[in-house]
Parts: sequence; structure tokens; C-alpha cells
Amino acid sequence: MLKTDKLEYNIEKIRGDFPILHRQVHNKPFVYFDNAATTHKPLEVIERMDRVYRETNSNIHRGVHYLSDVTTREFESARETVRGFINARNDHEIIFTSGTTAGINLAAFSFGERYVGENDEIVVSALEHHANIVPWQMLCERKRAKLRVIPMDDHGELDIEEYKEMLNDRTRLVAVTHVANSIGTVNPVKKITGIAHEHGIPVLIDGAQAVQHGSVDVQDLDADMYVFSGHKMYGPTGIGVFYGKENILEEIPPYQTGGEMVDQVTFEKTTFNQLPLKFEAGTPNYTGAIGLAAAIDYLVETGLDKIAAHEKDLLDYAAGRFAQIDGLKVFGAAREKISVISFVLEDIHPYDAGMVIDKFGIAVRTGTHCAQPVMDRFGIRGTIRASMAMYNTREEVDRLCEAIGKVKEMFG
Ligand code: PMP
Repeated sequence: MLKTDKLEYNIEKIRGDFPILHRQVHNKPFVYFDNAATTHKPLEVIERMDRVYRETNSNIHRGVHYLSDVTTREFESARETVRGFINARNDHEIIFTSGTTAGINLAAFSFGERYVGENDEIVVSALEHHANIVPWQMLCERKRAKLRVIPMDDHGELDIEEYKEMLNDRTRLVAVTHVANSIGTVNPVKKITGIAHEHGIPVLIDGAQAVQHGSVDVQDLDADMYVFSGHKMYGPTGIGVFYGKENILEEIPPYQTGGEMVDQVTFEKTTFNQLPLKFEAGTPNYTGAIGLAAAIDYLVETGLDKIAAHEKDLLDYAAGRFAQIDGLKVFGAAREKISVISFVLEDIHPYDAGMVIDKFGIAVRTGTHCAQPVMDRFGIRGTIRASMAMYNTREEVDRLCEAIGKVKEMFG
């Protein structure tokens, strides 16, 4: 029996809610351990989006007709759902984007335009996904500013003492990931934010791998900006959230311009719409936003604490089983970790291993996980990554271990 059964975590019911989990791959029952790349969708999300297209679809905000009004209200209600989910103070601090990458680019352009100049510094960490490196690197090139990197130790934990030393009166922003997608480290983002704020420096947190694994409270974290993607939290693709504190959103210029985000337009001058519309140029992905709200409802109904306990059980179980496999080396031993295990098999290329594991109907990810600097730090070319979600089971971990055994037989 799963430890989490005691917490009334009904894994069979949960698995029943995700149709894709019941298909076969290569004539074997499908096992999905690539949840850090994207998660599957429960019926609640699929059906809510289906209903929009079947019953209510109309462009929002601008129509006086009935369905436009219905869809606008659903879209704005989705914004309120997101607000509650991350405990933002105001609805208008929630900006819908197409995902985490779009949110970070928004910040790099809008915040960067307003606040970053020559010789200024932006601080990121050694654990970042490329999405939280490249936009800042490009900003630094445009503005002749400097990118600085908080180093990490061999366990995959950031060096906070070094970080403290790094901040100075030229530091304009700290941009760090809440949870590292490559090796699962949970960063002490509240502490990181507190330290930055002692110097009056704002902080952007990349929450792409955090919001699906536990409760996030942006006011408690005192995050100035917080970004995440719908598709990694059981919601649809093409929708994400950029949260910004009201005072920052008021100060920074819009990133994209066009319809919806304007107030008055003449050929001489344009004035901008109020928040949040100032940052939502063009027709937004309203169906995606409504689907995202359904995913949030699903997460909240299931209980983020219960999900976290279940995933912790899976992580501990998998770590225990992996420790018994000769030649298997795990990267990332942070004290706080989510249910991601990145590993290599001695003398076997991760790609070869991934291909064989796939033949057993098991999806894992291989490569650098869009975090090349993390791989460089460990002196490796890539890993095999098993990332576990609320619907995975110990039996699936056992199947992965069996498949790893076969990989070793084949290449050993
Ligand atoms: N940051 C992190 C930590 C991620 O894991 C990812 C996705 N792997 C991203 C950013 C980018 O997210 P998206 O592709 O949804 O924009």
C-alpha cells in the first residue's frame, strides 16, 4: 500500500481522470515519466475547453453580443482563479501569456527597457533553464549590461553566501528558478528574495516547475514577478501566467503592442489600456485561460499537499531502487527536491538508454534538458531524466527499473 493512501490519496481515481494514461505504447501499458517537459490533461480540462468551442466561443472584451459576454466573463473568472491560486493581491496583476518563456521575455524587454542600462547587472543562477538565461543575456548585449551567475555546489544547491556578495548598487534584477527542471533542486526563493530586497533589488521567479508540486503564495514569497506555464501543471499548451506587482506593471512599458492593449489611437499618438490589458495585445488565448482555470480547480480539488506527499513518496521509493542499480549515478542531491531524478548509466549514452526504455512503453527524457550550463557544471553531456507527477505509481518505478536492467544487459 502506498504511504499516501493513508492521506486518502485516491490514485486509481486520479489515474482514471487522465485518458491518455490508459493507452498502449509499443504494445505495452504506457508509463509517462516526462512530466517536467509537459504533463497530461485530466478530463476536466479537456471537457471544459471542448465546451468553449462547442457552446460559447466568441472573441472577448469587444463584443456586445451574448456569447462574447459569456466568454469574456469566463476568461476574467479564469484570471481570478489564477489570482487565488498564487494568492496575488489583485486580478490585474495576472497577465496571461503563452507560457513561461513568453513571461520571461516580457520581463526582459519591458523591465529591461525601463530599468537596465550600461554597466548594470542582472543576476541569474547556475540552475536556470535556458528560458531564464538567454532573454537576460540578450538584454545585457542590447544594454551593455552584465550577466552574473550564482554558483552551485556538487549537490546542486546554490551558494547563498556567494550570492550575497554578488549584489551591489548596479544590480537591477535577480532572476532565479523556483525549482530546477534538470535535477529537481528547490531553491530557497523566499530567502533569495529577502536578501535582494534588503538592497532594494526586485526578483523574478521562474515557477515553471514549482506550481504543480506545492502551494505557491507570491505575497508570502514577496516575489516581484512570478512566471509559469499551463501545460506543465495539467493545463493546456499555449497559455501561461506572468504575475507582476502592481507598481512594477504600472511602471514598465508594454512588450507587445496592437489591439486590446490600447486606450486611444491616433496616427500621432497612442495611449495604453489599463492593467492587465496593457500587457495582453491581440486576441488572448481565452480558451487556454479557461482550460488553465480547470487545471487549477483540479489541482486544488485533489489537494496540493496530498500531491506533494504522494510525489515525495515516489521520489524516495525511486531513489531507493536506483541506489541498488550498479553503475547508475544520480545528479542532484539537494536537501529540498521535487520528484525529478536525473541520472546516467556508466558507459551508456543517455540517448541509447532512452531509446531502449521507450521500447518498453516508458517515456523518459534524455539530453541536457534545456539546461546546458547545469550539465557543464557536472562535466557531463546529458542525463536520463525521470520526472514524476501526481498520477505516477511505485509499480511504474519498478517497470522503469526493469527496463534499466535490460538497457544494461544490451549495452553492458
Ligand atoms: N523554466 C523552467 C524551469 C522550465 O522547466 C521550462 C520548461 N521546461 C521553462 C522555463 C520554459 O517553459 P515553456 O517551454 O513552457 O515556456
